[in-house]
Amino acid sequence: MDMLIEKIKSEGIVLSPTVLKVDSFLNHQIDPQLMHEVGKEFADRFSRSGITKILTIESSGIAPAVMAGLHLNAPVVFARKRKSLTLVNDLVTASVYSFTKEETSEISVSKKYLSEKDNVLIIDDFLANGQAALGLADIVKKAGSGIAGIGIVIEKGFQNGGQLLREKGFRVESLAIIDSLENGMISFDNTAKN
Ligand code: 5GP
Repeated sequence: MDMLIEKIKSEGIVLSPTVLKVDSFLNHQIDPQLMHEVGKEFADRFSRSGITKILTIESSGIAPAVMAGLHLNAPVVFARKRKSLTLVNDLVTASVYSFTKEETSEISVSKKYLSEKDNVLIIDDFLANGQAALGLADIVKKAGSGIAGIGIVIEKGFQNGGQLLREKGFRVESLAIIDSLENGMISFDNTAKN
């Protein structure tokens, strides 16, 4: 997706050979126009999948997920990372090891918002080792819903999450795939359907 790739090239900051910072348009400040286009692209790619619900994880998955939900006309649910006083009963939970925080935490969704009738599109901002996406997929399975696929804004193709998820049979659609962050440079996988 050209608009996204141009934005990553102009505003992405390489923090290390494995971590990219995109705080100016996705992870802190949010670019609504870009997110609108991101949502439209996810909707185009999954338009024939019969999506009834979108599932993401707080907080950075919410903006692209809401825009995808807008275009697919489907409600958006986000998994909570922290225990909430208002979210106590009938939870579906999964454990997720966080790539950026280097700790395992429980994520949860109320059973009320996922059912056997749902066909779910999972969306997240980044794909590194696939743990967040697997945790979300685990929640969908526990709720008895179907999984139509996984939409990722930025996949780091040099980490193993993409391969892991595709080998498990998930349809993974990434809007930008980064090949390398070595030497402070961002290079893209031009063979991928960006
Ligand atoms: P995974 O679970 O695939 O290992 O990592 C994905 C999660 O970690 C995403 O939800 C995202 O929040 C975070 N993450 C992984 N790599 C990066 C990165 O390079 N930059 C940023 N900003 N977040 C990342």
